[in-house]
Amino acid sequence: METVLEMRGICKAFPGVQALDQVDFAVAPGEVHALLGENGAGKSTLIKILAGLYTPDSGEIFFRGERLTRLKPDQIQARGIGFIHQERTYIPYFTVGETLFLGREPRRRTGLIHWRRLYREAEEVLSSTVGLAIDPRTRMAQLTVSERQLVDIARVLLTRPSLVVFDEPTGPLSEGEIQRLFSVIRHLRQQGVTVIYISHRLDEIFQLCDRATILKDGRKVATVSVAETSPEAVVRLMVGRELKEQFPKLSLTPGEPVLEVTGL
Ligand code: ADP
Ligand code: MG
Repeated sequence: METVLEMRGICKAFPGVQALDQVDFAVAPGEVHALLGENGAGKSTLIKILAGLYTPDSGEIFFRGERLTRLKPDQIQARGIGFIHQERTYIPYFTVGETLFLGREPRRRTGLIHWRRLYREAEEVLSSTVGLAIDPRTRMAQLTVSERQLVDIARVLLTRPSLVVFDEPTGPLSEGEIQRLFSVIRHLRQQGVTVIYISHRLDEIFQLCDRATILKDGRKVATVSVAETSPEAVVRLMVGRELKEQFPKLSLTPGEPVLEVTGL
Protein backbone atom coordinates (compact mmCIF):
# COMPACT_ATOMS: atom_id res chain seq x y z
CA MET A 1 0.00 0.00 0.00
CA GLU A 2 1.16 3.51 -0.83
CA THR A 3 1.62 5.65 2.28
CA VAL A 4 2.11 9.37 2.90
CA LEU A 5 2.75 8.99 6.59
CA GLU A 6 4.22 6.08 8.44
CA MET A 7 4.89 5.97 12.18
CA ARG A 8 6.76 2.83 13.25
CA GLY A 9 7.32 1.31 16.66
CA ILE A 10 6.39 4.47 18.55
CA CYS A 11 6.86 4.25 22.34
CA LYS A 12 6.20 6.97 24.89
CA ALA A 13 6.06 6.66 28.67
CA PHE A 14 4.87 9.26 31.16
CA PRO A 15 5.52 8.82 34.88
CA GLY A 16 3.42 5.79 35.85
CA VAL A 17 1.90 5.13 32.43
CA GLN A 18 3.06 3.65 29.13
CA ALA A 19 1.04 6.00 26.93
CA LEU A 20 2.22 4.33 23.70
CA ASP A 21 3.71 0.87 23.29
CA GLN A 22 5.22 -0.05 19.90
CA VAL A 23 2.55 1.67 17.84
CA ASP A 24 2.64 1.36 14.03
CA PHE A 25 0.42 3.73 12.11
CA ALA A 26 0.30 4.19 8.32
CA VAL A 27 -1.86 6.60 6.35
CA ALA A 28 -2.57 6.40 2.59
CA PRO A 29 -2.67 9.51 0.40
CA GLY A 30 -6.08 11.17 0.11
CA GLU A 31 -7.90 9.06 2.70
CA VAL A 32 -9.74 10.13 5.84
CA HIS A 33 -8.13 7.85 8.43
CA ALA A 34 -9.71 7.59 11.87
CA LEU A 35 -7.65 7.17 15.00
CA LEU A 36 -10.09 5.59 17.37
CA GLY A 37 -9.94 4.54 21.01
CA GLU A 38 -11.39 5.15 24.44
CA ASN A 39 -10.25 8.08 26.58
CA GLY A 40 -6.65 7.56 27.63
CA ALA A 41 -5.88 5.13 24.76
CA GLY A 42 -2.98 7.31 23.57
CA LYS A 43 -4.49 9.07 20.53
CA SER A 44 -3.47 12.63 21.42
CA THR A 45 -0.01 11.50 22.52
CA LEU A 46 0.61 9.87 19.13
CA ILE A 47 -0.47 13.02 17.32
CA LYS A 48 1.58 15.30 19.59
CA ILE A 49 4.62 13.21 18.72
CA LEU A 50 3.87 13.75 15.03
CA ALA A 51 3.43 17.48 15.72
CA GLY A 52 6.86 17.70 17.34
CA LEU A 53 5.34 18.62 20.72
CA TYR A 54 6.53 15.40 22.41
CA THR A 55 9.71 13.44 21.72
CA PRO A 56 9.07 9.68 21.44
CA ASP A 57 11.16 7.31 23.59
CA SER A 58 11.66 5.23 20.45
CA GLY A 59 10.25 4.78 16.96
CA GLU A 60 10.49 6.40 13.55
CA ILE A 61 8.33 8.73 11.50
CA PHE A 62 8.36 8.96 7.69
CA PHE A 63 6.43 11.61 5.79
CA ARG A 64 6.48 11.57 1.98
CA GLY A 65 9.62 9.48 2.08
CA GLU A 66 11.52 11.78 4.45
CA ARG A 67 12.46 10.62 7.92
CA LEU A 68 11.35 13.24 10.46
CA THR A 69 13.62 13.39 13.46
CA ARG A 70 13.55 15.93 16.25
CA LEU A 71 11.71 18.50 14.20
CA LYS A 72 10.20 21.55 15.83
CA PRO A 73 6.48 22.25 15.34
CA ASP A 74 7.12 25.00 12.76
CA GLN A 75 9.35 22.64 10.75
CA ILE A 76 6.55 20.05 10.74
CA GLN A 77 4.14 22.74 9.52
CA ALA A 78 6.59 23.77 6.80
CA ARG A 79 6.43 20.18 5.50
CA GLY A 80 2.70 20.49 4.97
CA ILE A 81 1.19 18.92 8.09
CA GLY A 82 -1.49 20.93 9.91
CA PHE A 83 -3.09 20.29 13.31
CA ILE A 84 -6.40 21.16 14.86
CA HIS A 85 -5.50 20.21 18.43
CA GLN A 86 -7.93 19.02 21.08
CA GLU A 87 -7.06 21.81 23.51
CA ARG A 88 -7.20 24.98 21.48
CA THR A 89 -5.86 28.32 22.56
CA TYR A 90 -6.74 31.71 21.17
CA ILE A 91 -6.18 35.31 22.15
CA PRO A 92 -9.62 36.67 23.13
CA TYR A 93 -8.94 40.32 22.26
CA PHE A 94 -7.44 39.53 18.84
CA THR A 95 -9.71 40.00 15.87
CA VAL A 96 -10.49 37.05 13.61
CA GLY A 97 -8.26 38.56 10.90
CA GLU A 98 -5.32 39.03 13.30
CA THR A 99 -5.72 35.44 14.48
CA LEU A 100 -5.74 34.05 10.93
CA PHE A 101 -2.64 35.92 9.80
CA LEU A 102 -0.62 35.99 13.05
CA GLY A 103 3.06 36.00 12.10
CA ARG A 104 2.40 36.25 8.33
CA GLU A 105 0.46 39.48 7.98
CA PRO A 106 0.38 41.04 4.52
CA ARG A 107 2.66 44.12 4.59
CA ARG A 108 3.07 47.35 2.68
CA ARG A 109 6.36 48.21 1.04
CA THR A 110 7.11 50.34 4.12
CA GLY A 111 6.95 47.20 6.27
CA LEU A 112 3.74 48.22 8.01
CA ILE A 113 0.86 45.76 8.17
CA HIS A 114 -1.56 46.23 5.27
CA TRP A 115 -4.72 46.09 7.36
CA ARG A 116 -7.19 46.63 4.54
CA ARG A 117 -5.68 43.76 2.57
CA LEU A 118 -5.50 41.57 5.69
CA TYR A 119 -9.21 41.95 6.38
CA ARG A 120 -10.17 41.56 2.72
CA GLU A 121 -8.14 38.34 2.44
CA ALA A 122 -9.42 37.10 5.80
CA GLU A 123 -13.00 37.43 4.59
CA GLU A 124 -12.18 35.54 1.37
CA VAL A 125 -10.30 32.76 3.17
CA LEU A 126 -13.07 32.22 5.71
CA SER A 127 -15.76 31.87 3.10
CA SER A 128 -13.76 29.78 0.63
CA THR A 129 -12.23 27.28 3.09
CA VAL A 130 -14.81 26.83 5.87
CA GLY A 131 -17.89 28.65 4.56
CA LEU A 132 -17.93 31.13 7.43
CA ALA A 133 -19.49 34.53 6.71
CA ILE A 134 -18.45 36.75 9.62
CA ASP A 135 -16.82 40.17 9.82
CA PRO A 136 -13.09 39.41 10.28
CA ARG A 137 -12.84 42.50 12.51
CA THR A 138 -14.87 40.66 15.18
CA ARG A 139 -12.91 39.82 18.35
CA MET A 140 -12.28 36.11 18.99
CA ALA A 141 -14.01 36.35 22.40
CA GLN A 142 -17.29 37.24 20.67
CA LEU A 143 -17.43 34.09 18.55
CA THR A 144 -19.21 30.85 19.39
CA VAL A 145 -17.08 27.76 20.10
CA SER A 146 -17.94 26.41 16.67
CA GLU A 147 -16.99 29.65 14.90
CA ARG A 148 -13.67 29.76 16.78
CA GLN A 149 -12.97 26.22 15.63
CA LEU A 150 -13.71 27.12 12.01
CA VAL A 151 -11.32 30.08 12.31
CA ASP A 152 -8.70 27.69 13.69
CA ILE A 153 -9.26 25.34 10.72
CA ALA A 154 -9.04 28.23 8.23
CA ARG A 155 -5.80 29.34 9.91
CA VAL A 156 -4.33 25.87 9.38
CA LEU A 157 -5.61 25.64 5.79
CA LEU A 158 -3.91 28.95 4.97
CA THR A 159 -0.60 27.07 5.25
CA ARG A 160 -1.82 24.79 2.39
CA PRO A 161 -1.20 21.50 4.24
CA SER A 162 -1.33 18.17 2.40
CA LEU A 163 -2.19 16.35 5.66
CA VAL A 164 -4.51 17.71 8.35
CA VAL A 165 -5.06 16.16 11.78
CA PHE A 166 -8.29 16.83 13.67
CA ASP A 167 -8.06 15.78 17.35
CA GLU A 168 -11.57 15.14 18.77
CA PRO A 169 -13.00 18.20 17.01
CA THR A 170 -16.68 17.58 17.71
CA GLY A 171 -16.62 17.60 21.54
CA PRO A 172 -18.17 21.05 22.01
CA LEU A 173 -20.27 21.09 18.80
CA SER A 174 -24.01 20.67 18.22
CA GLU A 175 -25.30 18.16 15.65
CA GLY A 176 -25.74 20.89 13.01
CA GLU A 177 -22.22 22.19 13.64
CA ILE A 178 -20.83 18.66 13.39
CA GLN A 179 -22.41 18.19 9.95
CA ARG A 180 -20.92 21.51 8.86
CA LEU A 181 -17.47 20.40 10.05
CA PHE A 182 -17.90 17.10 8.19
CA SER A 183 -18.67 18.91 4.95
CA VAL A 184 -15.46 20.94 5.41
CA ILE A 185 -13.53 17.67 5.88
CA ARG A 186 -15.21 16.02 2.86
CA HIS A 187 -14.33 19.07 0.80
CA LEU A 188 -10.69 18.69 1.87
CA ARG A 189 -10.72 15.05 0.77
CA GLN A 190 -12.12 16.08 -2.63
CA GLN A 191 -9.15 18.39 -3.01
CA GLY A 192 -6.78 15.49 -2.34
CA VAL A 193 -5.87 16.49 1.21
CA THR A 194 -5.19 13.55 3.55
CA VAL A 195 -7.01 13.70 6.88
CA ILE A 196 -6.40 12.01 10.23
CA TYR A 197 -9.60 12.17 12.25
CA ILE A 198 -9.36 11.39 15.96
CA SER A 199 -12.45 10.40 17.87
CA HIS A 200 -13.92 8.01 20.38
CA ARG A 201 -17.35 8.28 18.73
CA LEU A 202 -18.15 5.38 16.45
CA ASP A 203 -21.01 6.98 14.54
CA GLU A 204 -18.67 9.74 13.35
CA ILE A 205 -16.18 7.22 12.00
CA PHE A 206 -18.88 5.42 10.03
CA GLN A 207 -20.16 8.70 8.55
CA LEU A 208 -16.84 10.14 7.55
CA CYS A 209 -13.84 7.84 7.42
CA ASP A 210 -12.32 5.41 4.91
CA ARG A 211 -10.18 3.42 7.35
CA ALA A 212 -9.72 3.33 11.10
CA THR A 213 -6.81 2.45 13.34
CA ILE A 214 -7.88 1.39 16.80
CA LEU A 215 -5.76 2.06 19.87
CA LYS A 216 -6.32 0.48 23.25
CA ASP A 217 -4.24 1.14 26.38
CA GLY A 218 -1.39 2.54 24.28
CA ARG A 219 -1.30 -0.37 21.84
CA LYS A 220 -2.44 -0.59 18.26
CA VAL A 221 -5.19 -3.19 18.04
CA ALA A 222 -6.00 -3.14 14.31
CA THR A 223 -6.46 -1.08 11.17
CA VAL A 224 -9.76 -1.76 9.43
CA SER A 225 -11.52 -0.63 6.27
CA VAL A 226 -14.70 1.10 7.44
CA ALA A 227 -16.79 -0.19 4.51
CA GLU A 228 -15.80 -3.77 5.35
CA THR A 229 -16.50 -3.73 9.08
CA SER A 230 -19.39 -3.14 11.46
CA PRO A 231 -19.81 -0.91 14.52
CA GLU A 232 -20.08 -4.06 16.67
CA ALA A 233 -16.75 -5.38 15.40
CA VAL A 234 -15.07 -2.03 16.04
CA VAL A 235 -16.49 -1.77 19.57
CA ARG A 236 -15.11 -5.23 20.26
CA LEU A 237 -11.67 -4.04 19.18
CA MET A 238 -11.91 -0.79 21.18
CA VAL A 239 -12.91 -2.34 24.47
CA GLY A 240 -11.36 -5.77 23.98
CA ARG A 241 -14.61 -7.64 24.61
CA GLU A 242 -18.25 -7.47 23.57
CA LEU A 243 -20.37 -5.07 25.57
CA LYS A 244 -22.96 -7.73 26.40
CA GLU A 245 -20.20 -9.83 27.92
CA GLN A 246 -19.21 -7.14 30.36
CA PHE A 247 -20.91 -9.06 33.17
CA PRO A 248 -20.40 -12.66 32.08
CA LYS A 249 -22.93 -15.22 33.23
CA LEU A 250 -21.25 -17.94 35.23
CA SER A 251 -22.79 -21.36 35.59
CA LEU A 252 -22.03 -22.49 39.11
CA THR A 253 -22.69 -25.70 40.89
CA PRO A 254 -23.44 -25.07 44.58
CA GLY A 255 -21.11 -26.89 46.95
CA GLU A 256 -21.19 -27.34 50.72
CA PRO A 257 -22.43 -24.31 52.72
CA VAL A 258 -19.53 -22.20 54.01
CA LEU A 259 -21.67 -20.20 56.46
CA GLU A 260 -25.01 -20.84 58.09
CA VAL A 261 -26.91 -18.31 60.17
CA THR A 262 -29.86 -19.52 62.24
CA GLY A 263 -32.15 -17.99 64.85
CA LEU A 264 -30.89 -14.43 64.23
P1 ADP B 1 -6.40 9.96 24.42
O1 ADP B 1 -6.10 11.16 23.59
O2 ADP B 1 -6.55 8.69 23.64
O3 ADP B 1 -7.58 10.17 25.33
P2 ADP B 1 -3.85 10.57 25.69
O4 ADP B 1 -2.86 10.38 24.60
O5 ADP B 1 -4.25 11.96 26.03
O6 ADP B 1 -5.16 9.69 25.37
O7 ADP B 1 -3.32 9.89 27.01
C1 ADP B 1 -2.75 8.59 27.05
C2 ADP B 1 -2.26 8.31 28.46
O8 ADP B 1 -1.14 9.13 28.74
C3 ADP B 1 -3.28 8.62 29.55
O9 ADP B 1 -3.11 7.67 30.57
C4 ADP B 1 -2.90 10.00 30.00
O10 ADP B 1 -3.28 10.20 31.34
C5 ADP B 1 -1.39 9.98 29.84
N1 ADP B 1 -0.82 11.31 29.51
C6 ADP B 1 -1.07 12.01 28.39
N2 ADP B 1 -0.37 13.17 28.38
C7 ADP B 1 0.34 13.18 29.54
C8 ADP B 1 1.27 14.11 30.12
N3 ADP B 1 1.59 15.25 29.49
N4 ADP B 1 1.80 13.78 31.32
C9 ADP B 1 1.48 12.63 31.95
N5 ADP B 1 0.63 11.73 31.45
C10 ADP B 1 0.05 11.98 30.26
MG1 MG C 1 -7.08 13.01 23.36
